[in-house]
Amino acid sequence: MADTNIPYSLNSKKVAEATWRLLEERGVHTEEIAELVMVLQKKYYPDLSMEECIENVEAVLSKREVQNAVLTGIQLDILAEQGKLLSPLQELLANDESLYGVDEILAFSIVNVYGSIGFTNYGYIDKLKPGVLERLNDKSEGIVNTFLDDIVGAIAAAASSRIAHRKQEDHEIEEGEPTAPEQE
Ligand SMILES: [Mg+2]
Repeated sequence: MADTNIPYSLNSKKVAEATWRLLEERGVHTEEIAELVMVLQKKYYPDLSMEECIENVEAVLSKREVQNAVLTGIQLDILAEQGKLLSPLQELLANDESLYGVDEILAFSIVNVYGSIGFTNYGYIDKLKPGVLERLNDKSEGIVNTFLDDIVGAIAAAASSRIAHRKQEDHEIEEGEPTAPEQE
């Protein structure tokens, strides 16, 4: 039996590591999310490099709110895949029921991390479903990615917003204008 006298404490590093591990285990690599960022941002910043996209995806993934959303969403996908949820949630998730929108609501907590401009990016990438998103939407193999597809799109959208904010700051520094304090 667990000793209930030990105070609850969860190491941040453990949460971060679990996030990275779960994404990898579900077949999503950082580079693939960075490719979505490139799709979203290359028309605005033709010089944008893949390294910058990866760096911004990693910055998004380092935030605890984002980690919490990733852990929650992937856990629900896994339980649905294993048939372990109560009915009717089990059927709703296993069939990616169109009237179930909690996957998108959870993703919004990621989109929000760098402000409201993320919503436009999220809507765009969700319609287009390029690259990894197309694969995550393929329901033929009995794999449930009901939450994961929205989560991945949201991470890319948030990373794009981060880039937009950073580029604006760089521009203001170049112009010698006073800048607002930098975001994490
Ligand atoms: Mg979904």
